[in-house]
Amino acid sequence: MEHTRDNQQKKITASKVERDELYLYSLKKMADNNINSNESPLTGLYGIKAFFYQSNELMKKNPDKRFAVIRMDIYHFKTVNEFCGRQEGDKLLKYISELFQRYIGEYAVAGHLRADIFTLCTKFEDEQQLIDISKDIKKEIDSYEISCKIIPAFGICTNAGNLDISLMCDYADLALNRIKGKVFRVYEFYDTDMREKMLFEKKIENDILPALKNDCIKTYIQPKVDMRTGRIVGGEALVRWQREDGSMVYPDEFIPVIEKNGYVLDVDDYMWDKVCYHIKQLEKEGKTPVPISINVSRMHVYQEDFIDRIKKITSKYDINPKLIPLEITESAFTSEESSLYRKIKSLQDCGYRFSMDDFGSGYSSLGMLKDEHVDEVKIDKTFVDDIATDKGRILLKNVIQMIRALGIDMIAEGVETKEQADFLVNNGCIYAQGYYYYRPMPIEDFVLLLEKSGKE
Ligand code: C2E
Ligand code: CA
Ligand code: CA
Repeated sequence: MEHTRDNQQKKITASKVERDELYLYSLKKMADNNINSNESPLTGLYGIKAFFYQSNELMKKNPDKRFAVIRMDIYHFKTVNEFCGRQEGDKLLKYISELFQRYIGEYAVAGHLRADIFTLCTKFEDEQQLIDISKDIKKEIDSYEISCKIIPAFGICTNAGNLDISLMCDYADLALNRIKGKVFRVYEFYDTDMREKMLFEKKIENDILPALKNDCIKTYIQPKVDMRTGRIVGGEALVRWQREDGSMVYPDEFIPVIEKNGYVLDVDDYMWDKVCYHIKQLEKEGKTPVPISINVSRMHVYQEDFIDRIKKITSKYDINPKLIPLEITESAFTSEESSLYRKIKSLQDCGYRFSMDDFGSGYSSLGMLKDEHVDEVKIDKTFVDDIATDKGRILLKNVIQMIRALGIDMIAEGVETKEQADFLVNNGCIYAQGYYYYRPMPIEDFVLLLEKSGKE
């Protein structure tokens, strides 16, 4: 039985090699004899396969020379088609391809890989040459007359260690992504840090679901205190990832990565579940639980089933929605406002409370405060840190006054010193979270701390 499977495997491998060889052969044939059939129909430059093949050949034939890939992308090219029409879009692409054609020569080939992606594989002596090419192409594009703004960006990868062309294109793309949409940045070189970052992100992507399954994701709680008395009035759930070697990965490192691929939804669900479970345990033991707020990723609030997910967890444990205030970062309030408001309102009607997290850290959402979408404001640590300066004190004092006048609850984050605590209390902000009081701790320790402080 095992023997047959082995044979089958060999067969599959053999035919795959054959297929690859055939594929290479046909690529070569296409590129050698019939290059035109593999041209991009619109612009006359090489299509992706011929570009890869010709570039690799070029580099192979000239091992003594240095080569680089310049990859150009137009920011929001789709809108060019939408605003100016398809015909104008095509005309622009032809114009750009003519610009790239100027650089084709004995040691350079150009490709049109996808709609708005152009590439040049060229020999170079020093990096300035590559910068000049990028800037020249941009200058010509800037002078093109069209009724919408065209913003090209260039990612450049130099071939340091015999890289394959497709890898060079990927790396140039990594560099390009770093500056895409930044109007004042024309080009970016790929460097190994980017690769490291990419590998790090890939590792997180691969490891996060197994980590959830294997109980490596831990629920930490940072107590919230009444600064006047030191009494614990609540907590905030903060995720921690414990690696097998015992080291800890902090959310600032992995949350942004898993927000890109959606796994943050799984992590949030897991955290919410853990928090509700512990609150229920306390109730079962006849103790009075304090509210423990949970973080809701911005990605979560855009999900159609956001409301159902939250309700499902509270009803699973049958706990009062007031016991899990939902923290949403300030910047999430600025986009897709109407659908977010609808969701917030609908949950508020069922008894849930919303905190605007990181207030004052970025895009200020003052408008949001007047419409009753926010039950509590969490004053960001940067505000608290700024009490070291005269202007910082004026600002914080007035922010506190404004929030109070609006009748919204508030809590200060990141309180680290007695001086900060005193200033806040004297100006009317009485609740805080910060290292001056407690650092985040495993949820089991928080439960013990609650018990201890209840007895005092
Ligand atoms: P956040 O929601 O603003 O959480 C507060 C962060 O400030 C926490 O960092 C906390 O440990 C830290 N902090 C509290 N007091 C002090 C202080 O006095 N000084 C300093 N320097 N830092 C203080 P943490 O745990 O590393 O979390 C970072 C961010 O990651 C959180 O910011 C939140 O945006 C996100 N996050 C954490 N847990 C979750 C989660 O379960 N789901 C989602 N979606 N995001 C989470
Ligand atoms: Ca938070
Ligand atoms: Ca915060």
